[in-house]
Amino acid sequence: MKQPSTYSQIIQPAKIEWQNSTPVSEQFGDVYFSRDSGAAESRYVFLDNNHLAQRWHSQQLTSFTIAETGFGTGLNFMCAADLWRTTKLSGALSPNAHLHFVSVEKYPLSKSDLQHACQLHPQYNWLSTCLLQQYPAPVAGSHRLYFPECNITLTLIYGEAINSFQQLEGLVDAWFLDGFAPAKNPDMWQPELFKHIGRLSHEHATAATFTAAGVVKRGLQSVGFKMEKVPGFGSKRDMLRGTIATPEPAAQNLSHAEKPWFHYAYREQCKIPSKVAIIGAGLAGATAANSLARRGWQVSVFEKEAQIASHGSGNPSGITFTKLSLHDTPQNRYYQSAYLYACRYLSNTLRRLNIKEGKDWRFNGVLRLAYNEKEAADQAALLDAQYWPTELMQPLTPEQIHQITGLVTDLGGVMLHGGGWLNPAALCHTLLQQPDISLHTGHAINQLHLEDRRWFLDDHGPFDAVVLASAFDCSHYSQTGHLPLKPVRGQISFVPQTEESSNLRHAINYNGYINPAREGFHCLGATFTPKLGTPEQRQEDHQWNCDQLISTLPNLADQLCLPDAHPLQGRVGFRCQTPDYLPVVGPLPNQEYFQDQYKDLSKGFLKRTFPVGQTLPGLFVSSGHGSRGITSTCFGAEIIASYLSGEPQIADKDVLFAIHPARFLIRNIIRRSR
Ligand code: SAM
Repeated sequence: MKQPSTYSQIIQPAKIEWQNSTPVSEQFGDVYFSRDSGAAESRYVFLDNNHLAQRWHSQQLTSFTIAETGFGTGLNFMCAADLWRTTKLSGALSPNAHLHFVSVEKYPLSKSDLQHACQLHPQYNWLSTCLLQQYPAPVAGSHRLYFPECNITLTLIYGEAINSFQQLEGLVDAWFLDGFAPAKNPDMWQPELFKHIGRLSHEHATAATFTAAGVVKRGLQSVGFKMEKVPGFGSKRDMLRGTIATPEPAAQNLSHAEKPWFHYAYREQCKIPSKVAIIGAGLAGATAANSLARRGWQVSVFEKEAQIASHGSGNPSGITFTKLSLHDTPQNRYYQSAYLYACRYLSNTLRRLNIKEGKDWRFNGVLRLAYNEKEAADQAALLDAQYWPTELMQPLTPEQIHQITGLVTDLGGVMLHGGGWLNPAALCHTLLQQPDISLHTGHAINQLHLEDRRWFLDDHGPFDAVVLASAFDCSHYSQTGHLPLKPVRGQISFVPQTEESSNLRHAINYNGYINPAREGFHCLGATFTPKLGTPEQRQEDHQWNCDQLISTLPNLADQLCLPDAHPLQGRVGFRCQTPDYLPVVGPLPNQEYFQDQYKDLSKGFLKRTFPVGQTLPGLFVSSGHGSRGITSTCFGAEIIASYLSGEPQIADKDVLFAIHPARFLIRNIIRRSR
């Protein structure tokens, strides 16, 4: 088996000793914040010395990104968020302005330690309640939280700082360099860390740190910062602050191993929010509209059908789900991070937008049954490796399954907490009915035309950016013919609920799935027949769906009186799939440039350097989400919003490369030599 890399490492919690009201790290032998006044020190060192109050006093500011080494108790985050809120309330910032705070943490606090720390700063209760409610379980990688009150996004990356920043893409306006003193934590303050701070810095980026250590000053100077010593807080003599004078130029030529074709020049390409068009009003389009509108974009959504969510997103209910694997591949990382994000984003959004829980959604966990020997062995291996903490993946015996779900079964399984079922159309409808989003149904878009870096869609436009989110139709344009999107037929069955089956409250996943009844029917799914094109329902497919349930959960099948329910009704859909079963999410490549600049790849010139890729300005795609639409599209939407705004990405670099829309073009160029 492939050795798991850093990203699948188990995250160790912080070991904290509380000395009166001061948290002290046992791992580093240092305090998290000043014994005298933690909040005042944080405000002085990081807020004042990054000049945040002055920089945020602008109606023109649309977004601002802070990056931090060491999230710890979240005190720096709360101080910055509080200043952002006060500035917004004073009217100095525009209401749509968006703050993005990204922080890396090797040893996250347990939730109870975080709660304890938050209680010491009751002035931030408005934020800490929401932080505690969303606080991620200790799983390596990126976790994105949203605070609607003042339009703040927090990307919390669990992992070692250098590895995490090495995988981070996007731009930073201000650095909070916390993370314990270099003498106590020399492993973090390495040249490699400063290299990535330089790479990720936006023009005019600033940095502040509590330490005045020479290694930090020289490290920041070496990547283009002009640094100065200024008085420290309280009894501390001095500290450092600085501004980037010469941001590192965007990469020009890179070796084959660095995959230059996927590199994105955030500094040159990111845009101030203006007008964006989205083609497609299913899950991919609706989630993209939501992610962009909350960053200040004026969104126009074009849908060729009369109704939204009418194709792949048209099933009455679906589930958030991911298949867990010990193999640390970008593919597994994509789906597992997407799942964790979708669970948090969907339950918070549905609640906030007042979609009634129980009618169109319920996120009370998904039961994954150990329905055959292989699945039982896989689940045992995941549990043995403590792959996910029990708060996310709880092993269940048949008796426990009975207690929790009422199901009578002799199978064990795992409860994936956080997940659940929902009606995709209700979600799309609510997401699209928000301010700054205009919906145009019955509008097919046939051509995209670029003029002076702005897009025209048939006779609509101009738009500064376009997101293609129309499943198969995404590859119908002259700019996108290289996207190999294939239909995979799937049929679901609607099984009438009975008095007994109406007690089912959890989505159940096995070799198929069954959802709790909605509007009198359970959704039973789903077949997977790539080579079949028929749109008509087939009784043999309904039978297949029933057979999976009968062989896995015969008692539940009995309650449903399946044989009497024939002929069943259901729905046929065509999942939009790519050959490597990953979605296509990201910027679209300039085909002519790729054919010309990378043609030597087909001749086997793998050792030379190549220029970085050129994309079509402002043109993005989110498609190929297959049968994971609910889970994958929310994540895809944030990736596109981060590319457009230049904010830190939600996925690591290897994942972004794995889902990049140019990958098929490159594979074809390489294959031509064979
Ligand atoms: N900013 C925090 C706050 O507001 O509470 C305090 C940070 S505390 C002084 C330093 C933090 O850096 C600790 O949480 C520690 O676990 C984290 N840390 C130390 N070394 C790290 C590394 N190499 N990578 C990521 N985090 C690290």
